[in-house]
Amino acid sequence: MVCRTDSVKCIIRCRSGRIELTEIKAKIEVAGNKARCSSIGRMLGATHMLEEKTDAGQQGIQRIDVEAVNTAGVREPLYAARKKVFPQRAKGTFRRLKWVIMALTLAVYYITPWLKWNRGEFAPDQAVLIDLANRRFYFFFIEIWPQEFYYVAGLLVMAGIGLFLVTSTVGRAWCGYTCPQTVWVDLFLVVERAIEGDRNARIKLDKSPWSGGKLVKRLSKHAVWMLIAVSTGGAWIFYFAEAPNLLNELVTFQAPPIAYITIAILTATTYTFGGMMREQVCTYMCPWPRIQAAMLDEHSATVTYNDWRGEPRNKHTKKAIAEGKNVGDCVDCNACVAVCPMGIDIRNGQQLECITCALCIDACDNVMDKLGKERGLISYTTLNDYNANIKLATGTDGLVNPKNIHGKNGRLVDAVINANWRTLVRPRTLLYAAFLGAIGLGMLYVLSARDQLSLNILHDRNPLYVLLSDGSVRNGYDVKIVNMANDPRVIELSLDGLEGGAMRLAGQNSEPTNSLRIEVEPDQVHPLRLYVQADPDDLGERPQMFQFVATDVQGEERAVARAKFETP
Ligand code: SF4
Ligand code: SF4
Repeated sequence: MVCRTDSVKCIIRCRSGRIELTEIKAKIEVAGNKARCSSIGRMLGATHMLEEKTDAGQQGIQRIDVEAVNTAGVREPLYAARKKVFPQRAKGTFRRLKWVIMALTLAVYYITPWLKWNRGEFAPDQAVLIDLANRRFYFFFIEIWPQEFYYVAGLLVMAGIGLFLVTSTVGRAWCGYTCPQTVWVDLFLVVERAIEGDRNARIKLDKSPWSGGKLVKRLSKHAVWMLIAVSTGGAWIFYFAEAPNLLNELVTFQAPPIAYITIAILTATTYTFGGMMREQVCTYMCPWPRIQAAMLDEHSATVTYNDWRGEPRNKHTKKAIAEGKNVGDCVDCNACVAVCPMGIDIRNGQQLECITCALCIDACDNVMDKLGKERGLISYTTLNDYNANIKLATGTDGLVNPKNIHGKNGRLVDAVINANWRTLVRPRTLLYAAFLGAIGLGMLYVLSARDQLSLNILHDRNPLYVLLSDGSVRNGYDVKIVNMANDPRVIELSLDGLEGGAMRLAGQNSEPTNSLRIEVEPDQVHPLRLYVQADPDDLGERPQMFQFVATDVQGEERAVARAKFETP
């Protein structure tokens, strides 16, 4: 309940709808958290809102009664009850951009496990699959084996550099647009608004005593939230098994327990983080806001309140101008605070809590449009540009003087520097982009040029060799033929560089030979236990180094592995 008795005019709006919107000249007597309005002659309780009719208000802008509850100086200690944030719906360019990104990211997350990619009859046809049982990662045309984990490391390095690039360019755009926490909170807010209404209706509902209507709204909201949370957990496990089969197993309660446990954990975290904790996750739990400061520089564009233009803020501009006071462009309407999902006031400067979602830019641009002033009182701005503008606006007395930046027509003078995309292209960002491109291209090249056949050899450690009755020496080896192709292959395994050497499969009494033909299953590792024997008198150096050679009989691919032959 807020009443400003210095108002010239007041609008008294009953949010319960029982009193019509009325414009009056009224005397407001404040008593505790109640106020008596002399015009309508009744007490207004906490469910009523008084809004000042400011000069700006006459142009359709009402001052919103909102407190920046999550700003560091105001925020309650961690153990105190959270002051809820009720973000108002924003409209504008950045909000539209956020809708598009939200729809895209959610679609990618939920739909990807259901996409198909034909890899032949011997490999799964799910486009993106983390096959833990067979230790494979399938990503469309890419298949990564455990020994190729460096690709995953390369992807992580690329993700890190990408984050550096974005942050040094446009601040925490990752946080504001694509971070799962932001996306899911936005989704949960869509549901909340659809069921409980926008900011004022939600505040009123929150404060109202429990009733049938409130119970129905709250139950509906939490039920939809829970549905979203379960779908989120459910979608995640589809990345780890063939989605249609797993879905069938899930609904018939035949899926492995770990699937249900994973869904339960992700449901709980999605519901808690997205629905209940919201901005607290970013403020208290996420390390990223703490790290980001190191990546920003004076050329990074961040969401900034241009106080060189907005100050001195005043909600009664005409009166102030008539009194000869300096008046900035900010009409102190609080629209920027009301839409902020983090519960902060950007006019207090750069803050750790700001996720750079730019909704305050949209809110303020709408206000500027109504006032007939240039947009950009809150804007993406670099520190350099901000410093240049504040220098321009500051008078000899060291105070910001709006007259320094406004021409006679009331518009901003040309010397004011506006946001310019060219400031984003600089050596630092180019270097990050070059690194990103080089690693990406390098990985693509290695990926496309890699062999689909490889050979691993492990010599026995004990015994190193065995002396046979005919005087020859035998060494034992564990051999693994890796067939990364999605077709079965016949591989010829031979010895090279071991004079008089011959081999046979362990457990078979066949005659030793210089080459063996082995059928290898598609997309599999084929293990073998081999004995190689040779006459030590035929050998030169000791131990004798030689090679195992694996050749695809139908194709041209071949793999070579060096080994040693131990003798007494
Ligand atoms: S201050 Fe503006 S950019 Fe920062 S979180 Fe709030 S609305 Fe988003
Ligand atoms: S910065 Fe803009 S939106 Fe925020 S209070 Fe001032 S005029 Fe209103």
